[in-house]
Amino acid sequence: MTSPTARSFVLAIDVGGTKVESALVDDRGTVLGASRHRAATGAQASSEQLASAVSSVVTRTRASLPAGADLIGVGIGCAGPIHLPGAVSPLNLPVWREYPLKDLVAALVPDLTVRLRMDGLCITLAEHWVGAGQGIDNLMGMIVSTGIGGGLILGGVTVSGPTGNAGHIGHIEVGGFDDPCACGGVGCIEAVASGPKTVAWARTQGFTGESGEDLAAAYAAADPVAVAAVTRSGHALGQAIASATTLLDLDLVAIGGGFSNVTPDLLDFARSTIAGRVQFAYATRVRLVPSALSGDGPLIGAAALIHRAELVP
Ligand SMILES: [Zn+2]
Repeated sequence: MTSPTARSFVLAIDVGGTKVESALVDDRGTVLGASRHRAATGAQASSEQLASAVSSVVTRTRASLPAGADLIGVGIGCAGPIHLPGAVSPLNLPVWREYPLKDLVAALVPDLTVRLRMDGLCITLAEHWVGAGQGIDNLMGMIVSTGIGGGLILGGVTVSGPTGNAGHIGHIEVGGFDDPCACGGVGCIEAVASGPKTVAWARTQGFTGESGEDLAAAYAAADPVAVAAVTRSGHALGQAIASATTLLDLDLVAIGGGFSNVTPDLLDFARSTIAGRVQFAYATRVRLVPSALSGDGPLIGAAALIHRAELVP
């Protein structure tokens, strides 16, 4: 029997385009810092190198389990697209196409339940559990960073879709834009308003900086090109979110990711675009807020696949 004071942990794994991280997360959503390990991934890595990176962090994290604590399962969040129940094809890891990631991990922990979902769903679950979406039953979590991702909770439960890719807001096309997207679409919000795409557009207008940080500094200094670029991306985000909430009747959208912090004005531009749907009070009522998660959000969300399994049908 488990002692009532023993902590129960989930081994959480977050697989992304540049790194894989793992850590133990307790039933309050707290990451055990000493159990956190990371290894590089990247588009140049071979499939064997990626598998080895995952195996190495999982093995090291499991070895960090405190004496007397329970390990109750493994949750994996992975960059999309994915293929439920257990394969992945992360856009930025081209050697993994329908790669059986869940089986790889299950072989390392044969005694434990393993669940896998898209990273955007995990982030949304983390916002609902411990972040900006607590108590909110109709929620979209978004990441605006190198790419744009997202996930959905509707009616109090996560929406995965049959393949696991529901909520992939980054590939909603926005009107008035013709930027080509890696997915094959035209004018996808990721192709318009991600950090790198916003910087790239600014550079076509004469901006000489190279990073989102450069753009943030130029915006803060009222550089007109930086202001135009951030305004363009903010309004495009607003178009995508207005479309999403018109379809889904959301209460809240929580936005995180490095580029979402370029300036607080970014969300105000998005809000002003959403407010333009003047005849649709149900759409304009949606609240747009910054993420309340730390950098631990992806791991907390992966752990919630087990700790809050009732929210993940
Ligand atoms: Zn796209």
